[in-house]
Amino acid sequence: MHYSEIKTCDIADGLGVRTTLFVSGCRNHCKGCFQPETWDFENGPVFDEKVWEEVLDSLVPDYVQGLTLLGGDPFEEENQRDLIPFMREFKKRFPDVEDSKGQKHASKNVWAFTGYMFEDLLPGGKKYTEYTYELLSYVDILVDGPFIEEQKNLALKFRGSENQRLIDMNEYRRSGNIVTILGS
Ligand code: SF4
Repeated sequence: MHYSEIKTCDIADGLGVRTTLFVSGCRNHCKGCFQPETWDFENGPVFDEKVWEEVLDSLVPDYVQGLTLLGGDPFEEENQRDLIPFMREFKKRFPDVEDSKGQKHASKNVWAFTGYMFEDLLPGGKKYTEYTYELLSYVDILVDGPFIEEQKNLALKFRGSENQRLIDMNEYRRSGNIVTILGS
């Protein structure tokens, strides 16, 4: 897998201060996409283990709340496959922690953005692969849906168009319901 950019101290792509990994490769080709150079799966350098370390190191400080996976599209089949070993390492370095009530929380949370619908990532969906369930298991907030230029709204937080949803994946795992946050 290649990546187009890594942004540290990013406050635009999820709540809090984050490190954002822009993977390369996207077949959505949304009209009005703000970064069409990332559609090419070979755009930018290879995301190798040296780069993993840079990303993981950037997440260590307490003020960094988590990691954002952006694109391109992290849920293209080959990107799902290639993100799994990195995300396993991420979870090993930053395991879940238990609060005083015995509930588990991510020590560093994960936001992921996809131009596909969440339903496309479920069994039987067009982007469901042998890797999807595991990759989604690492995600706390999933921002889903294509960018639709006609529904563009600059006032929206963490999304470009009205159709996109910020899905609370922990709530989905708890209740099976799709619950959105921040009025999405
Ligand atoms: S999913 Fe994102 S990167 Fe892909 S075309 Fe749409 S806006 Fe661009």
